[in-house]
Amino acid sequence: MLEGFKNAAELDFSLAENKRKIEEAFQQVDAEKGRVYPLIIGGERIETEKKITSLSPSTKEVLGYACSCSQELAEKAILAANEAFKKWSLTPVDERIRCLKKLAVLLDENRFIIDAWNVEESGKNWGEADGELCEQLDFINSYAMHMAKLDQGLELVPTDEYTKCIYIPIGVGVAVPPWNFPLSLLGGMVAAAVVTGNTIVCKPSSDTPIVAYKFIELCEKAGIPAGVVNYIPGSGSDIGDYIVEHPLTRFINFTGSKKVGCRINEHAAKISEGQKWIKRVVAEMGGKNAIVVDSSANIKKAAQGIVASAFTFQGQKCSACSRAIVMSDVYEELVAAVVEEANKMKANQGSGRSNAAMGPVINQGAYNSITNYIEIGRQEGTIVCGGNYSDAEGYYIEPTVIRDITRDARIANEEIFGPVLAIIKVDSFDEALDVVNQTEYGLTGSVYSENRENIMKAKIGFHVGNLYFNRKSTAAVVLQHPFGGFNMSGTDAKTGTSDYLTNFLNLKSITEDLTD
Ligand code: NAP
Repeated sequence: MLEGFKNAAELDFSLAENKRKIEEAFQQVDAEKGRVYPLIIGGERIETEKKITSLSPSTKEVLGYACSCSQELAEKAILAANEAFKKWSLTPVDERIRCLKKLAVLLDENRFIIDAWNVEESGKNWGEADGELCEQLDFINSYAMHMAKLDQGLELVPTDEYTKCIYIPIGVGVAVPPWNFPLSLLGGMVAAAVVTGNTIVCKPSSDTPIVAYKFIELCEKAGIPAGVVNYIPGSGSDIGDYIVEHPLTRFINFTGSKKVGCRINEHAAKISEGQKWIKRVVAEMGGKNAIVVDSSANIKKAAQGIVASAFTFQGQKCSACSRAIVMSDVYEELVAAVVEEANKMKANQGSGRSNAAMGPVINQGAYNSITNYIEIGRQEGTIVCGGNYSDAEGYYIEPTVIRDITRDARIANEEIFGPVLAIIKVDSFDEALDVVNQTEYGLTGSVYSENRENIMKAKIGFHVGNLYFNRKSTAAVVLQHPFGGFNMSGTDAKTGTSDYLTNFLNLKSITEDLTD
């Protein structure tokens, strides 16, 4: 069934041609800086007085201003989506797929400028930005492929009656993505809604409204009708509860922190006046991901995997490693190897635009929270790499490695979402798995081992949605490593799969008696 699907390939920025094109795109970004981005509701551009300022995390420079949606305008957006649903839900799947295919073409054509805006607004480097664009292309192509198959209905056993079981759209959805994948997490939510025949109201993160706007513009150009995809930036505290609780909201597709995800789940469970259904909530949330290194592991390879997982994109991936759990007999060797690798990252820090290995963290709030954890870690263990930070010209924090952390320490249990790695010593593989599973999360994890017994044990006992062996815990690829977490890491939605789409569909069983 997956034959014919091919993952998109990332650009090679070592080629002069690609380097020239992204540098030209940065010039275009510079020329557009300071623009105002209106709401898009039912195809109408609406400007508001209140604005959200989008700042570059690399330089604190103003990138632009997104209009901020009020509750009244959020109401208008949900009504527009509800109106559009009447037609879009009846639009043939073929036509919905055509729109998505066109969207993929447009994304590819606008690749450099979208990458450049992502680099500027989220602070990721060129390769990370283009990797995200590839993920978005993969979401589009995989959802188009799955929907074509789902459109054939569910296979049933034959009877004398006429029977059919078909997938139908469910209604108006609300998309609430985080800032760290401003294109592919919003875009995946949109692609899934559009192809399943639903309509969607998008509330992008207040940190990355411009990348979201650029994507919604492409949705319009791709021929997705007005009202099917709506764009309403606004602070979560102003309009979040309102759009979640609205009686016409049928589903909420959220990715972000545990705190906000749990709040959404709670508010969505309340039945509002006039509401005719139980809302569906897809909530993908935080992590406290671990990499276990046992006595048989290739230590250099393990150290490289740990450092790549902990510090690329400044540790701001939900899949990032924040705990290395290491057997005592290889502990010193592993710590030394991790420090050596982390020092290489430390020497290569700079702005997103400079394409350094590590850039800034997203904003002042994240900077304050992460640096506070570094100070907690300084008390809880010994810093052996990094530990310095500055917010003078952007939000820069060194890759920070803290050794001799006990399993009960705060930095061994709480999500930091920044470039901070805690190293924990254990005496046995069983103890390692026990430490792995002690947090409330269960998103990703890795084991470095050449010991088959330990590998088999971990396959059963390492309780996470995405488990890897002898490789890093980040960089899941669509339909190669379906992504979604256990426990407080989320509803295990497994983005990119056919199962994911069924969150946004009802199955209607139709039977007709054929006898006279
Ligand atoms: P966040 O603070 O939870 O925000 C996520 C989104 O929720 C933003 O758009 C935010 O809007 C919105 N929001 C805030 N309060 C709301 C409310 N009361 N009702 C509705 N929406 C509300 O998370 P973040 O800082 O953007 O992202 C980092 C987190 O995301 C980390 O915990 C990370 O692990 C997680 N994450 C998980 C995955 C995964 O697949 N499991 C992937 C990526 C990230 P504002 O921006 O306006 O506040």
